Amino acid sequence: MLWFPYTQMKTAKSPVKITHAEGVYLYTEDNHKLIDAISSWWCVIHGYNHPEINEAIKQQIDKFSHVMLGGLTHDPVEKLSQKLVEWLPGNLNYCFFSDSGSVAVEVALKMALQFNTNRNSSRNKILALEHAYHGDTFKAMEVGDDEDYHFAFSNQKSNVVHISTTIPTLEEAFFKFGNELSCFIVEPLLQCAGGMRMYDISFLQKARKLCDEYDVLLLFDEIATGFGRTGKRFVSDLVQPDILMLGKALTGGYIGHAVTITNQKVWDGFYSDNPIHALMHGPTFMGNALACCASLKSIELFEKYDYMSKIKKIEEIFNRETKDFTHPDIKEIRIMGGCLCIEVFDKTVLNGFQQFAYDNGIFIRPFLNYMYTMPSYIINEVELVKIIDTMKTWFNNR
Ligand SMILES: *Cc1c(COP(=O)(O)O)cnc(C)c1O
Repeated sequence: MLWFPYTQMKTAKSPVKITHAEGVYLYTEDNHKLIDAISSWWCVIHGYNHPEINEAIKQQIDKFSHVMLGGLTHDPVEKLSQKLVEWLPGNLNYCFFSDSGSVAVEVALKMALQFNTNRNSSRNKILALEHAYHGDTFKAMEVGDDEDYHFAFSNQKSNVVHISTTIPTLEEAFFKFGNELSCFIVEPLLQCAGGMRMYDISFLQKARKLCDEYDVLLLFDEIATGFGRTGKRFVSDLVQPDILMLGKALTGGYIGHAVTITNQKVWDGFYSDNPIHALMHGPTFMGNALACCASLKSIELFEKYDYMSKIKKIEEIFNRETKDFTHPDIKEIRIMGGCLCIEVFDKTVLNGFQQFAYDNGIFIRPFLNYMYTMPSYIINEVELVKIIDTMKTWFNNR
């Protein structure tokens, strides 16, 4: 028996069985063809079954699929780290790979805490955002602020301070705790699992200034926002963090992999003649060769086919198609880059929407008060308009 994610198995509806997938389409066992409106938790940016990514993996699989990174290295992992370092802004130069986003967050937080231990500083508080989601492992839950995911563990959060995304609260938090903080972790500009909440770049600019002033590390969890989702390639292109986490779309959604990337300052905090200053972490599958080949090809496609202009087009269509659309059940419509979210006042309004969309040829999965789409970037205009129309029709039929 399978145990499914975020699911009360006793009352769960049976999941949809997929037999194959291609482009933006999922094909089901009972012969439905569905547009995937959420690109498998926002990862599959090139669509499914991409011939060039398939080929890259096939070539590597005939050499080897995996060797451990303890004492060994290989071309795919070296090339990927070099590519990321060249591609990312500033001096985000040091790549630590892991097998999932949550682990990349654990690594980043361990780095931030040990960075301070290594310099004999006792800073142990962490600043984070209200409604934050950083993954489901323990420390990631601790910096998270989402009762709906983590209520069963909510007594763990003693050293974490959560604030809203307004500049006065930010200033107040640094004034109060600035000298006790090891780091400030945020999902920059767009808080995805926390409800597709969007906020202004000026908040991050201010955060960068305060982190410098108080000697606090700034951590960007771009596991969801990275690779264009906000309409920026990376939010880190606009404001640079000390530590950056990427995951989800890193491999184009092919294989679970993630990376924690640091700047020179963080690296220097570990680089020492003292052996206990080393970072003691090493996921078994870090730097998996197939994952690295998929990632390299994914980045190549992202550049070669000018994905940023595709995302701009998606954003334009979102804006055009929802302009002047209102309904008494809708609290707010939010758009940023490749993300459209309709927030409703009462979550029961969305009961039945998933089935309605399924019957109209769309796989979509609202949560709480949020009906949203985050499609593959290769989606065409007709397919995209079909998703948005289905969302609008749900309200118009009420
Ligand atoms: C999905 C997500 C994670 C966790 O990644 P996993 O690969 O599911 O462990 C962490 N942070 C953010 C912002 C995410 O969206």
